[in-house]
Amino acid sequence: MIVLDGKATSAAIKDEIAVEVEKLKSAGKKVPHLAAILVGNDGASQTYVNAKVKACEKVGFESTLVDLPANTTEADLLKTIDDLNNNPEIDGFIVQLPLPEHIDEDKVTLRVAPEKDVDGFHPENVGRMSLGLPTFLPATPNGVMEMLGRYNIETSGKHCVVIGRSNIVGTPMSILMSRNSNPGNATVTLTHSRTSNLKEVCLSADIIIVALGKPNFLTGDMVKEGAVVVDVGIHRIEDSTKKSGFRLVGDVNYEEVAAKCSAISPVPGGVGPMTIASLLQNTLKAIKSK
Ligand code: NAD
Repeated sequence: MIVLDGKATSAAIKDEIAVEVEKLKSAGKKVPHLAAILVGNDGASQTYVNAKVKACEKVGFESTLVDLPANTTEADLLKTIDDLNNNPEIDGFIVQLPLPEHIDEDKVTLRVAPEKDVDGFHPENVGRMSLGLPTFLPATPNGVMEMLGRYNIETSGKHCVVIGRSNIVGTPMSILMSRNSNPGNATVTLTHSRTSNLKEVCLSADIIIVALGKPNFLTGDMVKEGAVVVDVGIHRIEDSTKKSGFRLVGDVNYEEVAAKCSAISPVPGGVGPMTIASLLQNTLKAIKSK
């Protein structure tokens, strides 16, 4: 059984990016500059944003964290986005989700200039992805594709079941896996909360990508022998034995499922680090496409 090591794979990608940054520097060019907007002080979001900023430093990017209070108005957030859109120093930026309830996420997504939308969430970029045109691919699904590609997981002609149809993970994942590309060319079944025969569907899958947001949801009896399983879920579970007071688990019951798989991504150390690597790849693309 192969463990799809997202930590090591993302470290390899970061090394490749660092080389590109060095080349830009020695040619006297500007280095990529990623900005992140964080609204409020949700613990998990803070951790994710900090990890993204730290990753920027590691590869030689510049980074800016715009830390706004939880009571920031929608108008003020949109103004901050406009400022980043118009700031020539910033090559790409993200608005960390989820946002406080009084802010309309769709309005925010639409306000980000598509050429700086390194999360790949703007409808223009989603449309380009759907048509197979050059664009910023959404970080998490693209991170999964990179992981499958770098581990030479055969996807062509395979039955891939995606669990969860969110706009940021499940739906784009299903599009990327069904595209005429490598990895890709899979026969994809996109499942969701109204799927009535999920276990049966999963048992026919060669590859299962799990992104529904329920801890330990995918159990051993839902997986056929030799399947490849990618776990996108991240949950903080209280654990008094840990210094932090919590441990991270995914959407997959790792012990049960790993026993049947030919390859599986762990949590932590799987898709999470790949998402960050993918964001850095998009930011490098943003400066190169200028
Ligand atoms: P979401 O809540 O937006 O969407 C969940 C989806 O799962 C929905 O489409 C829903 O229909 C489906 N679903 C719910 N119950 C189901 C069931 N019983 N059977 C089948 N489908 C069901 O979630 P999301 O934003 O896509 O995130 C999913 C998980 O991935 C979360 O744990 C999140 O924290 C994690 N995540 C991780 C990363 C990363 O970088 N590793 C990035 C984004 C999200």
